[in-house]
Amino acid sequence: MIYHRVLSRPVGPIKMSLLLALQRVTQQVQEAAPGRAVTILAVSKGQSAAAIRTLAQAGQRDFGENYLQEALEKQLALADLTLQWHFIGPLQSNKTKSVALHFNWVHSVDRLKIAERLSQARMEAGLPPLNICLQVNISGEVSKSGLVPQEVGEVAQAVRALQGVRLRGLMAIPEPSADLEAQRKPFAALRHLQDTLNAGGTGLDTLSMGMSQDFAAALQEGSTIVRMGTAIFGARERAI
Ligand SMILES: *Cc1c(COP(=O)(O)O)cnc(C)c1O
Repeated sequence: MIYHRVLSRPVGPIKMSLLLALQRVTQQVQEAAPGRAVTILAVSKGQSAAAIRTLAQAGQRDFGENYLQEALEKQLALADLTLQWHFIGPLQSNKTKSVALHFNWVHSVDRLKIAERLSQARMEAGLPPLNICLQVNISGEVSKSGLVPQEVGEVAQAVRALQGVRLRGLMAIPEPSADLEAQRKPFAALRHLQDTLNAGGTGLDTLSMGMSQDFAAALQEGSTIVRMGTAIFGARERAI
C-alpha cells in the first residue's frame, strides 16, 4: 500500500496507477497550455464504475462515454457523486431523449435533427439547456461522421435558435497521424472555422479536440477540452 497525498489514505496498486496517470496527464496538459483553462475529459468507455470513482475521489469531474447503455449503468452505480457526463459517441435519433436527460454535454451532434430532438427533450423535462458541440468532419474522410465544414455555419445558426440546447463549440476526430505537424493541420482548420463563426457573432467558447495520441498538437491549436482515454486508463481491453 502506498500513502497517496491526494486521497490522504492508503490505496492499492491499481488505484495508484490510475491516480499517477491522471497526475501525469494533468501536468502534460498544463505544460502544453500554460495558464489556460483546459478541461480534461476522462474518456471512460470500456472502463469500470470503480475506476471512475477512484478518479472522482482525486478531483476528476468530467467523464466521457460513447455508448448510452454502458453509461447509464455506470451513472447508476455512481449516483452518489456529482459528475459531469459528456456523450461523445455516435448518436441515433431514438437515443436522443435518454441522452438529453442523463448527460450534461453532447459533443457528437452531427445534424440539425439531433439537436432539435435533444432540445425538445430538455425542455419537456424542464431541465436547463444541454451543452452541445457540433462534430465536424474536418479532414474530409468520406466514412467519418460529422458535418462537412461548409454546412457548419448554417446548422450552427439553426441550432442557436433552439431553447433547450446551448451551442458551445466544435468537435473533431481527425485521422490519426504520428507526426506533430500533420496532427496540427486539422486542429488549426477547426479553430479557423470557429474563428470564422465567431467573427459572425456565433459566440462559441469550446473546441473539443485532442485525444491521448494528439492532445499536445490540439492544445497548440487552442483546444479547450481534451478527450483522454488510454493516457489515463491504459489500453482498453476491448476495441471499442
Ligand atoms: C475513445 C475516444 C476518445 C479517447 O481516445 P484515446 O485515444 O483512448 O484517448 C476520445 N474521443 C472519442 C470521440 C472517442 O471515441
